[in-house]
Amino acid sequence: MEIRIEGVTREYYTERKRIRALDDVRLTIPANQIFTLLGPSGCGKTTLLRCVVGLETPDSGEISIGDEVVFSHGRGIFVPPEERGLGMVFQTYAIWPHMNVFDNVAYPLVSRKTPRGEIREKVAKVLDLVQLEGFEKRPATKLSGGQQQRVALARALVAEPKVILFDEPLSNLDAKLREETRKELRTFLTDLHITAVYVTHDRVEALALSDRIAVMRAGAIVEVGEPRKIYFNSDHRFVADFIGRANLVPGTVSTLEGDHAIIETGIGPIAGLNSQGIGVGSEAVLCVRPEFMHLAATDTSGARNVFRGKVETLVFVGDAYEGDIRIGDTLLTTTIPPAVEVAAGDDLFISFDPDHCFLLPVGEGEGGKGKVESRK
Ligand code: ATP
Repeated sequence: MEIRIEGVTREYYTERKRIRALDDVRLTIPANQIFTLLGPSGCGKTTLLRCVVGLETPDSGEISIGDEVVFSHGRGIFVPPEERGLGMVFQTYAIWPHMNVFDNVAYPLVSRKTPRGEIREKVAKVLDLVQLEGFEKRPATKLSGGQQQRVALARALVAEPKVILFDEPLSNLDAKLREETRKELRTFLTDLHITAVYVTHDRVEALALSDRIAVMRAGAIVEVGEPRKIYFNSDHRFVADFIGRANLVPGTVSTLEGDHAIIETGIGPIAGLNSQGIGVGSEAVLCVRPEFMHLAATDTSGARNVFRGKVETLVFVGDAYEGDIRIGDTLLTTTIPPAVEVAAGDDLFISFDPDHCFLLPVGEGEGGKGKVESRK
């Protein structure tokens, strides 16, 4: 079921200050997709989710779920949360510690006075789905964090919601379990063909889980797109920087070449994708991700985007080295495969494909015009 959010604003007054938690948010969340709201702490993700659920009343705007308008400031509509047909999974699993798995999952059906036989059938089905069949009698307190989270998910699903909403549901799990649970979650949400709205500030989680991501900043949606598009060729500098590690090199566009442009930077001319058609003479920022930079011991200059540099620092992180390479006044961070023989102080050449780096505009709302962001 599609969710439409139109012109939603929500302000809080606290300690005599006005906080605009949501600023004229306009967003369409497509049906049957996993849609993630991603952004730094305090950008308004939870407030937006709570407005959709009905736990928060916006100061203006409209929210529709499918064909039904569930909130309209102008028309005085407010459908209470329990009538919006939504399921919700929170960061704290909020499962009942004094109940076993069956009773926890059955709870929403029991409170709706569903017949016993139907409850048994539906609980069995949903426990099977979250791979907790056989756990019915287990006390909730005798479950691992991941299992408790699955109980919370089963409880949200048992009432067959039209839409399921998640607020940082994996943040209490350790790193390994988080990774496993996120894979499972993606699989069964995809199989369910349900609209899922997921809130997180964890970019890897957002990339791994989502069909689409909306990146938020300061109460507004900055960009919406598929994970690969946002990662490889975002339209906004804030998004490019937030979604992954990025070297951002400022400069001025000098030449246009089809889909590409040459940008004159402090380390020389660099060719990159120019999807946004930034014009000659404009200031821009080139974004190149560490994993797209390659090292060569021999001189390959003459080819495109090849620079001579010196390894300034090198950190071993298990599956790779992270190296800071100094080129003139600029430091670029690269990911170096663990088998490459390289040491701090080495002189080498560094190259990256013009198709694997992209130009971003510098302008209103992008902040720090002309600021050198590659580290010095
Ligand atoms: P996080 O990732 O840290 O959970 P978030 O993106 O979900 O953050 P929100 O919880 O939506 O952010 O908060 C948005 C802004 O509104 C923040 O500045 C927050 O301090 C403020 N805020 C949220 N709830 C209230 C409230 N009940 N009273 C006052 N201010 C609030």
